[in-house]
Amino acid sequence: MPKIIHYRERCIGCNSCVEHASDYWKISNADGKSCLLGAEKKKDCFVRSISTVEIAANKRAAQDCPVHIIHVVED
Ligand code: SF4
Repeated sequence: MPKIIHYRERCIGCNSCVEHASDYWKISNADGKSCLLGAEKKKDCFVRSISTVEIAANKRAAQDCPVHIIHVVED
């Protein structure tokens, strides 16, 4: 199943991912960093499974993230 991996610690809160895919990303009022909605916290990242139709918007978010902390894995 495809999934999104977000290394949130290094987020600079630029809002680009929210603009690309607002159903998945939201800037936290608490610390100004982006949250991957519905994600599960792992050791050093957050992970959320997605369906194939959800890949494209999140790939755009990943491509435009200025600090390259969003990864979309397709297998
Ligand atoms: S695009 Fe990257 S740096 Fe910008 S808010 Fe989203 S995760 Fe953070």
